[in-house]
Amino acid sequence: MIIKPKVRGFICTTAHPEGCRAEVKREIEYVKAQDHAADGPKKVLVIGASMGYGLASRISAAYSFGAATLGVIFDKPASGARTATSGWYNTAAFEEFAKADGLYARTVNGDAYSKEIKDQVIDIIKNDLGKIDCVVYSLAAPRRTDTDGTMYTSVLKTVGSSYTNKTINLKDNTVGDITVEPASQEEIDATVKVMGGEDWKLWIDALKAADVLTDDAVTVAYSYIGPVITHPMYADGSIGKAKDHLFATAKEMTAQGNVRAYISVNKALVTQSSAAIPIVPLYISILYKVMKAHGVHEGCIEQMCRLFNTKLYGGEVKTDAEGRIRMDDLEMQEDIQNEVDTLWSSICTENLDTHADLSGYHEDFYKLFGFGIDGVDYEADADAAVAIPSIEQ
Ligand code: NAD
Repeated sequence: MIIKPKVRGFICTTAHPEGCRAEVKREIEYVKAQDHAADGPKKVLVIGASMGYGLASRISAAYSFGAATLGVIFDKPASGARTATSGWYNTAAFEEFAKADGLYARTVNGDAYSKEIKDQVIDIIKNDLGKIDCVVYSLAAPRRTDTDGTMYTSVLKTVGSSYTNKTINLKDNTVGDITVEPASQEEIDATVKVMGGEDWKLWIDALKAADVLTDDAVTVAYSYIGPVITHPMYADGSIGKAKDHLFATAKEMTAQGNVRAYISVNKALVTQSSAAIPIVPLYISILYKVMKAHGVHEGCIEQMCRLFNTKLYGGEVKTDAEGRIRMDDLEMQEDIQNEVDTLWSSICTENLDTHADLSGYHEDFYKLFGFGIDGVDYEADADAAVAIPSIEQ
């Protein structure tokens, strides 16, 4: 079929298999071309492995260190006139390349919050890998169904009082004010349940109990802090409460001695999840403009390749005074943030082109779904029914 993008709100409901494949290949080639740390993980479980930071972590571990990777994804294959999700195509492509390069790659498709998927993953580790030495927890999910069947939905709201600031309407590229209302305590608790550390710890406890973690195993989950303009929405908002819980859980797990657990504070980037946060996409498009002008812009793969080769491995783990790995070091540089601040204070619909990298934002958004990628013929007939080699259909 001829596959075109169909954007609905913050997501694109179609994905292009050839575009996704080309993007995965580009990320692999990027990692292959970098210098690699002498030490590194050998057997890695990536939870949330099909897109964004999780996919980039999988590629970085596999192509920096030859690591065997087991991925957990929550994606849909093509069906009838519907394409598969981009995470499905990314994973199919990753497995294809990994196998061609002699690397172990296997994937489990299902709800990472469920006990069933945890059990399935543990069985595969026992049968195929023995023990794993690294667990990446990179879920970005809107909801979680607990083992008792209760469904929790996360919200992107402030805490305490409402907050008004500029935002961008990505449908018509206009800048206007938005007021974000505070979350109720019930909503905050639900957001912590979905995006906090509880499920991360359930995974580590289950892996430890099954004796499939090496003694020196490391686990990392991803967080964000960002500048003051985003704090009411992010760091001090409902999602920030979940991230505080994630960090507290890292400390708790490390103190228990089963694993060394870290939080990596990553850069703000266009992914399926960040597009849904009010205010943040406008900040991201200004940030892109400034970081590109300074020659320090990075995408998911550049961030994760640097994480695995210079901060998490390559000698001692490098953290800030509070024990967090800071991959947002370039984003938070004073000169970058001062310029972002100046542009933010005067940005409006009329000067969007000069104050923000809106085309870069839109390009990255379409690329998430395999569109707008050089060398891909979007007028050609594409076979949407791509299989993930390790998943039976
Ligand atoms: P993403 O949407 O690109 O990827 C999320 C992944 O989670 C996908 O592979 C998705 O399939 C998987 N997933 C979602 N629900 C699942 C479920 N129930 N079971 C199994 N898999 C499931 O998101 P991302 O932006 O890469 O975010 C990953 C992490 O990085 C999140 O913790 C996020 O808060 C954090 N982070 C993101 C940014 C950013 O700007 N995008 C910045 C810093 C930190």
